[in-house]
Amino acid sequence: MEHINKTNFIKEIIDKDLKKGKNQNRVHTRFPPEPNGYLHIGHAKSICLNFGIAHEYKGLCNLRFDDTNPEKEETEYVDSIKEDVKWLGFDWGKREFYASDYFDKLYEYAVELIKKGKAYVCDLTAVQVREYRGTLTQPGKESPYRNRSLEENLDLFHRMKSGEFNEGARFLRAKIDMASPNLIMRDPALYRIRKETHHRTADEWCIYPMYDFAHCLSDSIEGITHSICTLEFENNRPLYDWILDQLEIHHPQQIEFARLNLSNTVLSKRKLLELVKERYVSGWDDPRMPTISGLRRRGYTAESIRNFCKDIGVAKFNSIVDVVVLENSIRNELNKTAMRVMAVLRPLKIVITNYPEGQTEELSAINNPEDESMGTRKVPFSREIYIEQDDFQENPHKKFFRLAPGREVRLRYAYFITCTDVIKDEKTGAITELRCTHDPATKGGDAPDGRKVKGTIHWVSAKDAIKSEVRLYDHLFTKRDPNDTEEGKAYIDGLNPNSLEKLPECYLEPSLKKAVVEARYQFERLGYFCLDSRDSKESNPVFNRIVSLRDTWKKIVKK
Ligand code: ATP
Ligand code: MG
Repeated sequence: MEHINKTNFIKEIIDKDLKKGKNQNRVHTRFPPEPNGYLHIGHAKSICLNFGIAHEYKGLCNLRFDDTNPEKEETEYVDSIKEDVKWLGFDWGKREFYASDYFDKLYEYAVELIKKGKAYVCDLTAVQVREYRGTLTQPGKESPYRNRSLEENLDLFHRMKSGEFNEGARFLRAKIDMASPNLIMRDPALYRIRKETHHRTADEWCIYPMYDFAHCLSDSIEGITHSICTLEFENNRPLYDWILDQLEIHHPQQIEFARLNLSNTVLSKRKLLELVKERYVSGWDDPRMPTISGLRRRGYTAESIRNFCKDIGVAKFNSIVDVVVLENSIRNELNKTAMRVMAVLRPLKIVITNYPEGQTEELSAINNPEDESMGTRKVPFSREIYIEQDDFQENPHKKFFRLAPGREVRLRYAYFITCTDVIKDEKTGAITELRCTHDPATKGGDAPDGRKVKGTIHWVSAKDAIKSEVRLYDHLFTKRDPNDTEEGKAYIDGLNPNSLEKLPECYLEPSLKKAVVEARYQFERLGYFCLDSRDSKESNPVFNRIVSLRDTWKKIVKK
């Protein structure tokens, strides 16, 4: 299994390191999610990259939960993350780690920095800290607590740990340079007081390490060689390096790459959480969500997601990948693997008046024209069938070649039929039913006299069909970049009001009785579909449309 493209700048760095014999020629990466939400397609990019590199260099990749923030983290998220990484096809073996397992060690490192005169306890309030920090153009001011004695710092830090002070009263910060052009280096916070219950360490701690402190040290403790992260952390790298240099411990190389942005959706966990909490979607696994669990429920395969991540590659600049690229990855796969079946989503009944009442015959249909080895199946045909409402027009416009009064069309794999009557509701005038005749000589879909018809439509036999609900999906957000909002508008205002359409009365050919959640089908002319793993019941099957048949790529390129 290859998960990453042939060359990328990260592999070039690793190759150079290996040439120099750095890290005893080990390659050891990690995927470090914060358990404060479900994983999304952006995380998949990072997972494929980190596990893919480890795989390619015969190295190791750790799964590490970056759980240093007690307020937002939950066990539910830990479980979902493990399930999703596994489902994507990656194995962390016994290397499941938690930053919270290192709390003792991290505390010791903080004490060591204090002893080296490289960290101090500061009593400034949050507002004061901001004032003292300075700006991009102006240097900051040193805190009046910056030159506390070593003993006083050790004593105060110890008392912070014992719970003697309130949240916000004091914090530990690095002693670096208040005039540094990089604002992150202006004496950043290392530890803060938080009187919250942690999902793993419960109430054992009331001080928690800041992300920048915990992250580089967790990498170091685990012997990570290449710490791959997204571009936003480029400015944090000097701090990452500074902490490890002061402590003189194993020093992983941080390497940044551009995060994935996908069009017509959001990938920030804060925003995804809001969509769930405010019930804009049915949950983290709503099939419209860009989460791994949402894509899985929608019908995406792990392989299609891995292929997508490989295709988009890694780069050093941010961009938005069009969601069509993701849709094409599943389309390409399912075109080769999915069984073709017939289903009618918006039914219009036809009675074939010259077909014997009570008779059923089995007609042969091809399972996948792309793959002969998938064979054929039998589809029942009878006097009453359903076709799609929009395959009939009473007054056909010029380019409409399907069924119309007096016109002959082909029923796929069955017969030529001709429409003889249109039955309407007396009150509303709505079309309720059609009457047609069939030509028995055209069985199988070809006329022995060589006459042609312009339209071929799909159908299902009314008495044999499975009644089902089908759900059609559209993008969650109408704008290509929902984060780019107009003045006075929030990203949430850009929600697509038509992202979900439920069709309650659809009719499927009877072979779908055997459908299982893992199976994916092409409903001819309509797209790719699968059973909904959450809402489908044997008595009331529910199918999701994974993706439509035609890609809209050309339309987009032309624009
Ligand atoms: P958010 O900013 O939405 O809260 P995050 O980056 O904080 O997301 P983490 O759980 O910390 O989420 O992410 C775990 C790993 O996945 C990190 O290494 C991060 O760089 C990577 N990652 C997160 N989002 C993306 C993305 N959109 N594209 C690529 N990698 C990502
Ligand atoms: Mg993060």
